[in-house]
Amino acid sequence: MQEAVELTRELYGFEAQAEQLPSYIDQNFRLEHPSGRKMVLKIANSGVGRDELDLQNRAMDYIAASDPGLQVPRVVSTLGGDRIVAVGGASEQHYQVRLLTYLDGIRWAKAPTPNSRQLRRLGDFVGSLTRALEGFSYPAQTHDHNWDVKHFPRLRDRLGELANARRRGIVEQVLDRFDREVAPRLPWLPSSVIHNDVNEHNVLVDARGGEITGLIDFGDLVQTVTASEIAVTMAYAMLGQDDPLTVGTHVLCGYHQRHPLGAAELDALFHLVLARLATSVTLSAYHSRLDPGNKYLTVSEAPGWKVLDELIELGPEDVRRHFGEAIGEASGRSAGRGIDEILDLRKHHIGPSLSISYRKPLKIVRGAGPYLFDARGRAFLDCINNVCHVGHCHPKVVAAAHAQSAVLNTNTRYLHDSLVEYAERLTATLPDPLEVCYFVNSGSEANDLALRLARTFTGHHDAVVVEGAYHGTTICAVELSPYKFDGPGGAGRAAHVHPVPAPDVYRGPYRSDDPDAGRRYAADVRRAIERAEAEGRQIAAFFIESMISCGGQVIPPAGYLRRAFRHVRDAGGVCVADEVQVGFGRAGSAFWAFESQGAVPDIVTLGKPIGNGHPLSAVVTTREIADAFANGMEYFNTFGGNPVSCAVGLAVLDVIEEEGLQENARVVGDHLLDRLSELAGRHPLIGDVRGHGLFLGIDLVRDRRERLPATDEATAVIEAMRDRGVLLSTEGPFHNVIKIKPPIVWQTAHADIFADTLDEVLTQGVA
Ligand code: PMP
Repeated sequence: MQEAVELTRELYGFEAQAEQLPSYIDQNFRLEHPSGRKMVLKIANSGVGRDELDLQNRAMDYIAASDPGLQVPRVVSTLGGDRIVAVGGASEQHYQVRLLTYLDGIRWAKAPTPNSRQLRRLGDFVGSLTRALEGFSYPAQTHDHNWDVKHFPRLRDRLGELANARRRGIVEQVLDRFDREVAPRLPWLPSSVIHNDVNEHNVLVDARGGEITGLIDFGDLVQTVTASEIAVTMAYAMLGQDDPLTVGTHVLCGYHQRHPLGAAELDALFHLVLARLATSVTLSAYHSRLDPGNKYLTVSEAPGWKVLDELIELGPEDVRRHFGEAIGEASGRSAGRGIDEILDLRKHHIGPSLSISYRKPLKIVRGAGPYLFDARGRAFLDCINNVCHVGHCHPKVVAAAHAQSAVLNTNTRYLHDSLVEYAERLTATLPDPLEVCYFVNSGSEANDLALRLARTFTGHHDAVVVEGAYHGTTICAVELSPYKFDGPGGAGRAAHVHPVPAPDVYRGPYRSDDPDAGRRYAADVRRAIERAEAEGRQIAAFFIESMISCGGQVIPPAGYLRRAFRHVRDAGGVCVADEVQVGFGRAGSAFWAFESQGAVPDIVTLGKPIGNGHPLSAVVTTREIADAFANGMEYFNTFGGNPVSCAVGLAVLDVIEEEGLQENARVVGDHLLDRLSELAGRHPLIGDVRGHGLFLGIDLVRDRRERLPATDEATAVIEAMRDRGVLLSTEGPFHNVIKIKPPIVWQTAHADIFADTLDEVLTQGVA
């Protein structure tokens, strides 16, 4: 105490009356200035760094500036103008001192039990706090603490602190649910700097009316999931209450009115509340072992267990529904048509040659990262959408489209920075001599244009394609697609199209045990060209996907593409790599899938992932081919290359680079391939697993030796996976290959969800 008085005199130049305040780990003194003004002298624990205190100071300044109505302490400088001072001599042992203004009011814990209005006010206050902190950031994570919900999974290491097996079981259950339901989705929840400890000791209220007068103690401030702020508030507000769920719901409603929560945040909310309670009781047990005398450390332990005991009995889905109803979400979300009504309207107004996925159709209303959500808010792990490549609704891509749409969208006959900037960035990812771009709107259009380029350049007319391939939906692209012309309703092969066997080393004539398979399959291309020439026809182009998707997730054997390209060029044709599905880093080891074959095409067609869902596609070719195409007929494309599309394309490239997604595809893809190979060892239905990066296939067979395709079983697996929240589909000529080509933001946790669910489905058995 005396020390506090002396420090105040020395640093701040006044004689104070001092009184020690209870505190978690710091030493806090209430000081009275001779003028009667009260202040708080805070002497931080020696483990707390100056950066951390500076961050707290800046956060309090930021809040005061953005919302002066929110009462938070303000920093008082020393006589020398410092906001933080180190005292105490020996370098490692010194303490950081700050003087803060004192806020009037009593601690929430000392006030009478709050009524529903006061609870809503608390939520409203915290909602304002979230808003006031919006945009506040700090350069690096200055601290990494156990109270940050991101690190909740590591509480598992502390389970040993809980001697009581039942209690340990509860915390374990909270951890298990968190690992399953929240951890994989955390990166896609909104994030910001939060106070992270809005509890009954840090919220101050007016002793008479119970109105909130301020918030203190910014020592747990952290950049984390924004929704954790309200979850923490709810968790502490529930302590000691007879009906904790109702209490928490009042707080939530107040918050939501001030700062609406998104559906994904609401999905996580109950788990976040449980996580804080579980953290609190477990760390209390830990601290009371270390420091048995410190009451403050364990003050919420008994009420914490009581609330946890009650909440753990509630079904998370029921609580989720309850939260949604309380904030009026249910009425908002059920707005919109029911499944039957939509099906009926589709029958009337949508062309019937369009299928619908799954026996029980899904109405998907929202997407985030690797997840899709149905109208009831159920999350589905998306394993097949290679269009939303960098994750559904990636905020950076959405923002780029939004910002450019608000400024200008026009066509490429005006000069604009974005067109040339994008062409420059895109071609920089491609090997020489691929340097000239044409921007179009779909993969089909890209392949259509690629054939025109090839024909104009070569003066030839015909095309070689791979059996089972799909290249698009225009007349020209359907003619290039055996998948269509040989399928139901197809007109068969047009005279100018020459299919060659797919280079499939699992089912084709040359198998994985044949080291010469690449050369042999490439010789099929040569033979097809010779047959065409024998009929007096000449090859303009060879179209091939660098990894074959619709054809059954086929990875060509080494050397195939390079050799096949040579045969085509020897015949005067050009080589078109269709990277519509497989480009942009999906292959993991290479940005473009053809690079993994050591081949360079003359034309490359791009689509799907290029715009993360925005209708953008491109053809990139050589100067020579482009010059030949400039024969007098203009090539103008109304929408292709417009400023919004280019802004989106640039944002996608930025995200792939900034988030290291190509490398991510490699790491997660390798992990998944390992998991699937292990499953193949236990489930005879799996005949083969293959792939590169996050482009994988599981070939299901009735008989491993005969390699009989298990088509019905594959359909049953897809449906069973869908029922368990995992979205998949089949590929290949026999529709027996399960395709996996998710947004490449998948983490290993998502690969594990996929593998675990498949394991469960195969273990239970399919019809
Ligand atoms: N090429 C390939 C390899 C494709 O998979 C597709 C679409 N599935 C296309 C071209 C056609 O693209 P779009 O549907 O954008 O016209």
